[in-house]
Amino acid sequence: MIRFIKNLSTKNIFLVDKLSLILDSILQGFNQKRCHFCDETTYNSEAVCSPCYSDLPWNNTCCNRCSLPMNFQNTPNSAPSGLVCGECISSPPLFSLAVTCFRYEIPINRAIRMLKYNQKRYFATFFARLFVKNIQQKYLCEPLPDLLIPVPMHQKKQKIRGFNQSLLISQQLSKSLSIPTNTQILQKIKETNAQAGLDKRQRMKNLQGAFNIIKPVSGLHIALIDDVMTTRATIDLLSKLLIDSGVKRVDVWCIARTAKNRL
Ligand SMILES: [Zn+2]
Ligand SMILES: [Zn+2]
Repeated sequence: MIRFIKNLSTKNIFLVDKLSLILDSILQGFNQKRCHFCDETTYNSEAVCSPCYSDLPWNNTCCNRCSLPMNFQNTPNSAPSGLVCGECISSPPLFSLAVTCFRYEIPINRAIRMLKYNQKRYFATFFARLFVKNIQQKYLCEPLPDLLIPVPMHQKKQKIRGFNQSLLISQQLSKSLSIPTNTQILQKIKETNAQAGLDKRQRMKNLQGAFNIIKPVSGLHIALIDDVMTTRATIDLLSKLLIDSGVKRVDVWCIARTAKNRL
């Protein structure tokens, strides 16, 4: 190749450079995407332009246990290590760690609704690809789970929607992290009302008898996968079911977490 370039005249070298530039722009053209949030052209593989990416509501300042968004004036980019919210102090959760990527705010709440109600399934891949980086960061000093379990939907509801968004997200995370997704352990056997707007007692009543263990998996470290964590009610209940059935440790991975005042 070097001999070939040495043998080229100045004019030919100019032509080779020109061809290489044309080839680059053709290749870039293939990678061209529209930003999911502003529709501008982007070459970012995640389909989000740089300004939108930095404006996303990353949940960096949150409770170190349940990931509840919190504000720390002196440390705007991360929560002081070990700090937990009032609820986790008064009523420690059975799960060991909750990891969430975003606060449930604009534009993430809109994107999650598009995924769930407008069949925009590509958002499951999008969220999972951004979430993987957070997860890897959180587990630098801890073992990753053995198994991912998406929070199940009632069969009837899943049939109407056509898919379970938590399963789609879980499958994408499985691909990136090489941890299997299993849908044969937990089952939702009762249709429930939306949890938003209910107080703690009503939420527990609403969830009573809603889930069932199909096949116990004792001794494993599990991560429960969900799209949005509004309160701890569902996750607490599932953690108890899994731990009572012999699971060694339960972690929770959710794309977004609502702030307490949004309930
Ligand atoms: Zn954008
Ligand atoms: Zn907490």
